[in-house]
Amino acid sequence: MRKILRVDMGKRECRFTDIPKEYERLGGRGLTSTLISLEVDPLCHPLGATNKLVIAPGILGGTLSPCSQRISVGAKSPLTGGVKEANSGGISGQKMGRMRLAAIVLEGKPKTDDLYVLVVTKDDARLEEAGDLKGKGNYHISEALREKYGSHVGIASIGPAGEKLLAAASVAFIDKDGVPCRHAARGGLGSVMGAKGIKAIVIDDAGTKKVVQAADQETFKKTVQEFIAVIKERPRVKNRLPIYGTAGLVAFSNEVNAFPTRNFTTGQFEEIEKIAGEHVGELIDERGGERGHTCYHGCIIGCSNVYMDKRGKHLTSSLEYETLGMLGANCAIGDVDTIALLDRLCDDYGVDTIEIGGAMGVAMEAGVLEFGDGERAVEILHEVAQGTHLGRIIGSGAAITGRVFGMTRVPTIKGQSFPAWDARSALATGVTFITSPQGADHTAGRLQGVLEFDRFEPGTIAPLSQGMQVSVCVQDTIGLCQFSDGTPESAVFLARLLSAYYGEAFTVEDFIKLGEKIFRTEVAFNRRAGISLKEDRLPEFMLKESLPPTNAMFTVDQEEIDSAFAHLREDNED
Ligand code: SF4
Repeated sequence: MRKILRVDMGKRECRFTDIPKEYERLGGRGLTSTLISLEVDPLCHPLGATNKLVIAPGILGGTLSPCSQRISVGAKSPLTGGVKEANSGGISGQKMGRMRLAAIVLEGKPKTDDLYVLVVTKDDARLEEAGDLKGKGNYHISEALREKYGSHVGIASIGPAGEKLLAAASVAFIDKDGVPCRHAARGGLGSVMGAKGIKAIVIDDAGTKKVVQAADQETFKKTVQEFIAVIKERPRVKNRLPIYGTAGLVAFSNEVNAFPTRNFTTGQFEEIEKIAGEHVGELIDERGGERGHTCYHGCIIGCSNVYMDKRGKHLTSSLEYETLGMLGANCAIGDVDTIALLDRLCDDYGVDTIEIGGAMGVAMEAGVLEFGDGERAVEILHEVAQGTHLGRIIGSGAAITGRVFGMTRVPTIKGQSFPAWDARSALATGVTFITSPQGADHTAGRLQGVLEFDRFEPGTIAPLSQGMQVSVCVQDTIGLCQFSDGTPESAVFLARLLSAYYGEAFTVEDFIKLGEKIFRTEVAFNRRAGISLKEDRLPEFMLKESLPPTNAMFTVDQEEIDSAFAHLREDNED
């Protein structure tokens, strides 16, 4: 039976329990959101003692299932004020799966500002003083802890931003090379971990079996082989992701006028070829980096990359679409090396590149720094780690930055920055940003492909978003990387995998029911937290301004959205 590790930071006690019945069939996002919903007061302060931080691998963590080792982090979010789940790659999900550890739950609050490292092994958990890790960045922490506990361990950590309780702080996870480049970045969950007094978690799976067995392992293995063949045939897996990574979307997004530029003023960037995936790929090859990199063993796609500086020294991994968009075009920075440096600093200091890109764009429009001033952007990022007043403002995200500088053009929904897709062109993704209980979030159900950019018949866009969001709720519960999914046959394979895993029938209908239940649970928590249906809307400027150069407008009717989501929202909406 899987276990839950509860760590009471008030008493500094670690306690393993059997997984309770209500959480038994859950993992990843399904488990984090259900636990938050059942155990956390929706009206609590996100940084207070009664909030909980939950870290959970997916249901299939540790099994042979391809691309299924992602890890979810959940809490009441300091950024949105609602329930939050942010998930990440890296090796920790697989290790927790092998340890049959369904979740680590950080509870309470330490009485002092001491910081601790939580060390979890297969049959023990203990808190050790963080000592000289205090104030250090994620790169230093991962190196020091791997040296101390062995290069086989998984590590989750926070940088200076999490210690300073900033609302854009992330939780970093190391990848298979020990680099802290994978982040549960969205929603400020790093600050919740900081408030709990945990600087890092060491996940040591020594002594566990390498592969978690399914109830019907033979059928499971057979289905896995079929699923792998299907994934490998997908056009984006064959032609794009291992070659250009997510950066391969940059030119496409720009072409369809969806690439946020200069704080969402236009949808196309004049220096696009300088930051497009093709150019990033050339620089990677020239400097001895790596394309097609995988963030954990068991990924069969390899969307990541390793990016070197001009001298051929490691600068960052992985340089992604969202970062190139939000810290690049959105800030009018057209130099890949500067964006890669900003990415490295965000990873090291432990902040979300999307939220920081959103905040910087707003600050640039406010005149705090010039659009395109990469040098000043780097300095300000250092200030985030130092905790200067300006650093704290930017490190608190786009909404706070907008308020402090009196700006009206602030690209946020439910307090969270837009990712690098402008809703005025990316319509179905825009509906996802509006309706997701997670705030504007690129992982909540982004339409992958060109579908949404062809103008559909009225009434067809919102249902696309609704179906995708429900499906993503289940993928995040399984621990599946979204790049392996996205077509109707995936649900069929996933249902077959879960049937073999549980040893009893799990149908596509069960799959949809599970996704809908998770979505409803999150919406209901948000309502109890005071987030009303009125917050399911685009920022005013996006509704009023068209998006040059195509002058796109968000054209999905409110009625269409309400009708597609009615069954997922509570009945007593105002
Ligand atoms: S496709 Fe990319 S994000 Fe997904 S598991 Fe592989 S490397 Fe990680």
